[in-house]
Amino acid sequence: MRLSSRAERMSPSPTLSVDARAKELALSGERIINFGVGEPDFDTPQNIKEAATEAMYRGQTKYTPVPGVLELRKAICEKLLQDNGLEYRPEEIVVSCGAKHSLYNAIHVLAEEGDEVIIVAPYWVSYMEQIKLAGARPVVIKASAENGFKIKPEDILGALGPRTRAMILNTPSNPTGSVYTPAEITTVAEALSDTGIWVVSDEIYEKLIFDGARHASIAAFNPDIKKRTIVVNGVSKAYAMTGWRIGYAAADAEVAEAMAGLQSHCTSNPDSIAQAAALEALRGPQQSLSLMVAAFAERRDYILHRLAQIPGIKCNKPGGAFYVFPDVSAYFGRKFGCATVASGSDLAALLLEEAKVAVVPGAAFGDDRFIRISYATSLENIKEGMDRISQVLSI
Ligand code: PMP
Ligand code: GLU
Repeated sequence: MRLSSRAERMSPSPTLSVDARAKELALSGERIINFGVGEPDFDTPQNIKEAATEAMYRGQTKYTPVPGVLELRKAICEKLLQDNGLEYRPEEIVVSCGAKHSLYNAIHVLAEEGDEVIIVAPYWVSYMEQIKLAGARPVVIKASAENGFKIKPEDILGALGPRTRAMILNTPSNPTGSVYTPAEITTVAEALSDTGIWVVSDEIYEKLIFDGARHASIAAFNPDIKKRTIVVNGVSKAYAMTGWRIGYAAADAEVAEAMAGLQSHCTSNPDSIAQAAALEALRGPQQSLSLMVAAFAERRDYILHRLAQIPGIKCNKPGGAFYVFPDVSAYFGRKFGCATVASGSDLAALLLEEAKVAVVPGAAFGDDRFIRISYATSLENIKEGMDRISQVLSI
């Protein structure tokens, strides 16, 4: 069968595949500990569910404007002003079916055949494929663990070429959990200042930040950078709403209009009931968010403590999101039964096979010396999972 070259170039999301495999094994009766997918284990807060129910009974069950209902776009503007010091008008906001969809729209209105888009490795899985789907070429800058998985201005300058169109910045980061300080964002913004390139700023983990750190959006650096930035955010992570599929982008009106135009031919508006839920998430009480952040911080500390006890594993302390990204290369060349581990992928396969623990190999994020462990699961599961990992690796 001949499919389009676009379809043939693309590989499906490895994070979602690991999750599907873990769930399949669990269904067949295995007691799997799933550290695979990045999805809060908490339920969506009750007030948000109630807002959705009310919207449904009120009859908010029809098409809405493609970029989302006006009230939600106003609430997003209020949020961006309050949290990020960013002034946007409702016509500069496009609500989409998850932040993944917002990123897709952003990349597709910016980049085309022959263009280059800079991404920072370790990178989140979908950036690479979305850039390729747009016909553009991903240019990867490697950020080292020694530098907290963050890039320096000279790294950006070294990656620029005549076809560079945009750069994707992700803080807090998936998969490393690293968080750029406001001062570091300033140096990145300064490096980008005279380049004319666009920034797609993925801020989906903004609220999941620990140790009193502060999230800074690059768009707030100055009006010129703001004009060339598409800020991407959403409710999936902060409000435990992954299944509702609501993300949003904020951009200059002309860009937002193009993104909405693209969306008008793909999905039309995002789900009308989920939009009512997102409105309540943004405007309603925020207590459940603080409870979740406190739980994530506790889990992070526990998992770091356990990883530190496993010989050879090196792991940075992440400042945000809900992942740890340990370097497991000390295990390369080691034999476990008849299998020799030579990569993060081999180790992930071993952990699934022998420990019944699902993790994502670093290869999915551009560096297979690592594995990603999501701690968006209960402390009880984390304890059990870490016991099992320690046991398998101690052989
Ligand atoms: N960006 C990053 C870095 C993510 O980890 C995710 C997780 N899915 C997304 C975007 C997409 O979020 P959503 O579920 O809202 O599509
Ligand atoms: N962002 C989550 C992760 O990295 C969800 C999976 C996905 O959207 O690919 O696990």
